[in-house]
Order: sequence, then structure tokens, then C-alpha cells
Amino acid sequence: MYFDELNISDELLDALDAMNFEVCSPIQEKAIPEIINGHDLMGIAQTGTGKTAAYLLPVLDALSHGNYPQDAVNCIIMAPTRELAQQIDQQVEGFGYYLDGVSSVAVYGGNDGARFEQERRGLELGASIIIATPGRLISHLNGGHIDLKKTSFFILDEADRMLDMGFYDDIMKIASYLSEDRQTIMFSATMPANIQKLASNILRNPVEVKIAVSKPAEKIKQQAYVCYDGMKDRIVEKVLSADSLDRVILFASSKMKVKELNITLKRKGFNVGAMHSDLVQREREDVMLAFKNRRINILIATDIVSRGIDIDDIQMVINYDVPRDPEDYVHRIGRTARANREGQAVTLVTPKGWNDLLKIERLIEKEIPKPDLPEGCGEKPTISKSSASKRTPGRHGGKGRHNKRGKSHHDKPQKPSSNSKQSKVNT
Ligand code: AMP
Repeated sequence: MYFDELNISDELLDALDAMNFEVCSPIQEKAIPEIINGHDLMGIAQTGTGKTAAYLLPVLDALSHGNYPQDAVNCIIMAPTRELAQQIDQQVEGFGYYLDGVSSVAVYGGNDGARFEQERRGLELGASIIIATPGRLISHLNGGHIDLKKTSFFILDEADRMLDMGFYDDIMKIASYLSEDRQTIMFSATMPANIQKLASNILRNPVEVKIAVSKPAEKIKQQAYVCYDGMKDRIVEKVLSADSLDRVILFASSKMKVKELNITLKRKGFNVGAMHSDLVQREREDVMLAFKNRRINILIATDIVSRGIDIDDIQMVINYDVPRDPEDYVHRIGRTARANREGQAVTLVTPKGWNDLLKIERLIEKEIPKPDLPEGCGEKPTISKSSASKRTPGRHGGKGRHNKRGKSHHDKPQKPSSNSKQSKVNT
């Protein structure tokens, strides 16, 4: 389905056109008409499916044309992390580029007092859309900076992640400030019991739309190098040098390891940057911007960036260790092969990580090829029952716009983009 077959305004279609969005993704095709029709919605879809536009487009359309109070917060969007909140804010700015009277403010925790003050002033000036992390929104609600009584749309993005981070009570508290008449939209990559409980508490007769979860894109070429811990640095070095790679994310499970790898790879002459939870907000933004702008080629990160980060041209994801949660694997490698590009995912697995790799293979219903180690890295170990934490690996061990309206777009003032607010965030 093309966007201009949806019942949305010309101003939104112009922005989509300028951003080269032409055809709806499956989640957009299913969710947008339901949201336009006023239904509560439970969307089961992961990052990379286009879920953000699936809820932003109908809500922006409603806000720009409906009869919503000018002096009220009309829409609250909750996100688990500041990175996702910023990214959603950027997309609001991109999609809303030609709309009048729709403003947004992003409020997220972990910043200094000056940022809190800036948010408070922004909230006082009024915004039709607030994008917030739960804890930070509670702080502003407690401070009396926001009134949610007239809010019409309540959206939860990556709800499973928010619950993983312990935000259940905060979300329920925020919901208690909202009117019963609101429309609630919730997106989650998975549907564990606590998400079902949350859904039954805050959604009313929701329509459920689902996009197959937990399956990495077929285009991702996945490989696992079976090795011992001491071989890992050499393998990473070889892999990074083999192809002329300049857009890589290297995931490690602890911030200590991220810091170590940052030093090791820098010493070896690689152009790297590190992203972990010890960095203050400003530093995280600087690293992310440097990576986006290609001032660094290899981003070494904990799972902090495994979801929700909007960079489309990652060539390879390397897992320095096997993520414990198989869903994290899917999210990590989902950073590559986006927007119809090719991508590779390389995972280093030691005998200790073998069982976790098996869990991943069960989840994705696919055996990940395990080639010999790159030259000079040694022989790959044989995984035995005893070395694989008492469990056997088993047999599976191994363009022009479709423009019905006939409008010309040559005279646009400036092209909106999904990261058009980046400069604002960093000033
Ligand atoms: P999301 O799942 O919302 O994080 O979106 C993943 C990426 O796909 C983002 O970079 C979006 O800007 C992009 N995107 C979403 N929907 C479309 C679409 N229909 N056509 C082209 N790109 C899209």
C-alpha cells in the first residue's frame, strides 16, 4: 500500500515524499487505519519495522486537523531510553515539517539540572506532543509542570523494554493522570505475561496487530566463530581488517569490556568510539553523532544501542560475546541490513557461551554457520558436553513517488529528515 492511499493529509504526504517514504511497511499498513479509526492498539513489532511512523503518522494527522485544545498536552509518547526518545522527537520533526501548530518536547532522565530547567521551560511554553522516559515524566508531573487531563493520545513505545527496566509502576502512575477517554497505543517487540497485564490495564478493547517477531532479516549473513576467550581480540582485528569496513557496531556485554576494547582497538589503529552507561548524556550524544557523521567507523557498545537506534547503513554487527537473552541477539544484529541494504553479523562464541547460542538458534529457527577461524587465529575448539556447561550442542550446533495527487515537490524550502533535530539536541 502506498502512503497516499491512506487517509492522511497532504502536508504529511509531502514530508513523507521528501523523506523518500513511498510504500507503507506491513505494520504501518495494518496499524495506521486502525489508529485513524480511533481504536486502542496493541502493536507487536520490533525496531526496524517502521513502528514509529505507524503511530506518529495517524496521531500527527489527527493533531493537525482535529479539534484538540491548543493549550494542552495532546499526546504523550513514552520511551524506555533517552536515545529512543530523541529519535522519536526527530521523526516528529521530520514528519511534522509541513504541519502547523504541532510542537513537541522530549524529556528524558540522566541529565544535569540545566537540562531539567530547559525541559521545564519548554513544557511551560506548551507542546502538543511530549516524548518522555517514564522516570523523567514522573519528576515533571510531581513538579506540577505538566497537566495531562486533556491528553487524547497515550503511546508506549518498546513497552517490553520499559518493563524490563522496572517502569511498570511509573507507567501505571502516569496512566492514572490521564483521562479515561484517551486513545492508547502500545508497541512491544514481545508479549510476555507482564506486557499482557499492562495491556489489559491500560488499553480498552484494543485491536492487535502483529508483525512476526524475533526473526532477523533474511538478508543478514550470520556467522559464529567458535573460539576461546584469548582468541577474541585477534579475531575481531582480522574481521575488521578483512573487508574494508567502515560502519560497524561491536557489542560487548559489559561496560568494562567495552572500555577495554575501545583502548585495544584504538591502539591497533582502528577508528573507534565507545558507548556505555557510564557516559553522561552529552558524551553519549557526541559519540552517537560522531558515528552517524562517520567521524568514527566502529562503535563499541553495550546493549544500550541494541534497540531503537536509527542508523541505516551499518555493514556489520560483531557480538564480542553471545548475548544471554536471545531477543537481544535479534535486536543487536537488526542494526544491520536495514533499509534494503546487505549486512553481516559475526558472533564470537566460547564454550561458555555455547548454550546461549543454541537458545538463539532455537529462537530464530536457524543454524548459524560456524566457519573456521580467520587465518592466524588458531584452531576452533571442539565443543564437548562438558565444555558446553553440561549441555550438548545437539545436531543444530551448528523512485519517483506514487503521486496520485499529481503535486510537484520541487519548490520545498528544505528537506525534512528523520534526524533533523540532531543539531538542536547537541547545542
Ligand atoms: P522504526 O522501526 O520505526 O525504528 O523504523 C526503522 C527505519 O525505517 C527508520 O529509519 C525509518 O525512518 C525507516 N522507515 C520506516 N517506515 C518506512 C517506510 N515506509 N519507507 C521507508 N523507510 C521507512
